[in-house]
Amino acid sequence: MYSTMPDIPLTISRILCYGSTVQGASTVGTWNGEHFDRRTYAEVGERAARLARALRDRLGVRPATRPGSAQGVVGTFMWNNTRHLELYLAVPAMGAVLHAHNLRMSTHQNAYTARDAGDEVIVVDARLIDTFAPLVPHLPDSVRHLVIAGDGDRAPLAAFPGQVHDYEELIADQPADYPWEEELDERTAASIFYTSGTTGNPKGVVYSHRSIYLQCLQVVAPNRFDLTQRDVLLPIAPMFHVNAWTMPYAALCGGADLLLADRHTKPASLARMIEVGRPTIAAAVPTVWTTLLEELDARPHDTSSVRRGLVGGSACPPALMAAYRDRHSIELLHAWGMTETSSLLTMAVPPRGVDPDQEWAYRLSQGQFPVSARFRIVDADGSVLPNDGVATGELQVRGPCVTSSYHGGQHSLQKRPAENFTADGWLRTGDIGRISPDGYLTLTDRAKDVIKSGGEFISSVELENALAEHPAVTEAAVVAVPDDRWGERPLAAVSVRADSGVGPEELRDFLARRVDSWMVPERWTIMGSVPKNSVGKYDKRRVQDEYARGHLD
Ligand code: ADP
Repeated sequence: MYSTMPDIPLTISRILCYGSTVQGASTVGTWNGEHFDRRTYAEVGERAARLARALRDRLGVRPATRPGSAQGVVGTFMWNNTRHLELYLAVPAMGAVLHAHNLRMSTHQNAYTARDAGDEVIVVDARLIDTFAPLVPHLPDSVRHLVIAGDGDRAPLAAFPGQVHDYEELIADQPADYPWEEELDERTAASIFYTSGTTGNPKGVVYSHRSIYLQCLQVVAPNRFDLTQRDVLLPIAPMFHVNAWTMPYAALCGGADLLLADRHTKPASLARMIEVGRPTIAAAVPTVWTTLLEELDARPHDTSSVRRGLVGGSACPPALMAAYRDRHSIELLHAWGMTETSSLLTMAVPPRGVDPDQEWAYRLSQGQFPVSARFRIVDADGSVLPNDGVATGELQVRGPCVTSSYHGGQHSLQKRPAENFTADGWLRTGDIGRISPDGYLTLTDRAKDVIKSGGEFISSVELENALAEHPAVTEAAVVAVPDDRWGERPLAAVSVRADSGVGPEELRDFLARRVDSWMVPERWTIMGSVPKNSVGKYDKRRVQDEYARGHLD
C-alpha cells in the first residue's frame, strides 16, 4: 500500500513563512547596552525577503537546483543580533548555504574555512572590521563581495579586491516578498558549521533543510526546551557555533520571543539583560554559567523570570547546578551534543514519579536521547555493550540529525571519510560513558581527555566535578601530562577566588576526601583564569602545551 501523504519538503522556508506570519507578532530584540532594540518576526520576514532578493539579483548568489548542485555560499562574521537572524533565515530559505565564521578562531582557521566552504559573499559586523581585516589578504578568490552590517570605518578593508556594500543600502530598494514557497528539495544543504578544531583543521558539517527542521521540532518539544509562545529565549551560545543550538529556528517555530546579546557577553551585561528582557529560558556552555554565577552571587539581580537554563557543550559540574538551584532558584538542564549531531541531542529532563534523590541523579546525567536518534555503547573491540547503566565504552550515534561524513570541499559530491565513522555509518563520538535502560546517557570523559595512569583510568571530569565543590574554586580543568613512572598523571589547572588564599595543599586534601587517593594530582597550577577555546570551553590542549613548554609550575 502506498501512503496517501505527500512528500512536502521540510525546509527553512516553511519555518520562515510560519514564523513571520502565524508567529509574526513575536519579537527579536538585540541588546544595545541599555535596552533591547526590537523587531517583530513579521518585520524580520520582510527584511529576509529583501535580503534574499539582493543576494540573488545584485550579488549573484545562486540558489540550489537539486541536492549536491553548486550553490552560493554566504559567510557571516557577526555577533548574535537581528541581522544575523535575517541571514540565518534568508540564506538557506533562498537555497544558498550559510557559513557562520567563528569570531574567535584564528585568521588562519577562518581563511581555511572560507576556502573549504567556498564563501562568495561575507557579511561582516561593522564593529568587527578590525578583527576581520587581517583575514582579507588570506581570503580565497571565490569571495567577491563583502557586506558591512552597521556603521564603522571601512578603511582597514581597503586591500579587499572585490566589492564592498552596505547591508541596509543593499536591501533598501528590494521588494519585500520572495517566492519562498517554490519547492526546494529538503535534502539540499542549508548551512555549514565547523568543529572548533582543537587538533588540526576544523571539520565541516553540512546541515540539510530536513535535518534542521527535524532538530528544530526536537528542540521545541516539552522533553527538551519546552518552547512555547509564552516563552522568551536568550541564547547565550554564539550564532557562529553549531547553528546556535538551532535556537533561532526553534524560536520562530514555537513563537517565543528571542533576545540576542550582540557583543555584550560579559557576565554583568548578561545579568542586566536577564533583568530587563525577563527570559524564561537561557542557554550557554558551563563556563558562561560559572562566570554569571559569580556576578549573581556578588550583586543582587532579579532572575526570577528564568524557569529553565540549558547547559551543554562540556560536562556541567554538579556543584554549579546545585548553586543555581539553591541560591537562585534556577533549574539548569544538562544537555549533550556535538557539531556533528546538529547541537544538543540528549537533555536531562527526569522521568515522572521519581523520588528527589533519583531526580537529582537524572539531572546530573547528560540526559535522554530523542526519538530520532539511535545510540549505542561500544567496547574497544567494536562489540556493542548492553544499555544497563553499568557497561562503559565509546558512545556511537546515528540518526537524521547526525552527520555521516565531513564536508569534502565546495562543488564536490566527495565527502571526507574519517576515522570518526564506523563502516556501517555510525558516528564515533569519542565520548566515553554508559546508557541506562531508559535511554539516559552518563558520560565519564572524552577518550582524549582520560588520564591513563599505570594501567588505570582517571576521569578528568570526576576530578573537575569534585574540585568545583570547593567554595573557593571558580574554574577547574584537569589534563593528562606525561609521567616517567605512571605513563600519565593528572595536572589540575585551577582558578580560585582572589581573596581566598587557597592553594594546592588545601585542594589536594579536599580532593583526597572525595576521590581515591591514587587519583589525586601531584601537579597543580593556580591560574588567573583557565584558558578557553573558541567556543568558551576549557582548552585542555593549551594547558598541556604550556605545561610541556615549562610555562606552568
Ligand atoms: P568540538 O569541541 O570538537 O569542536 P563540539 O563543540 O561540537 O566539538 O563539542 C562536542 C563535544 O563536547 C562532545 O563530543 C563532548 O565531548 C563535549 N560535550 C558536549 N556537551 C557535553 C556534556 N553535557 N557533558 C560532557 N561533555 C559534553
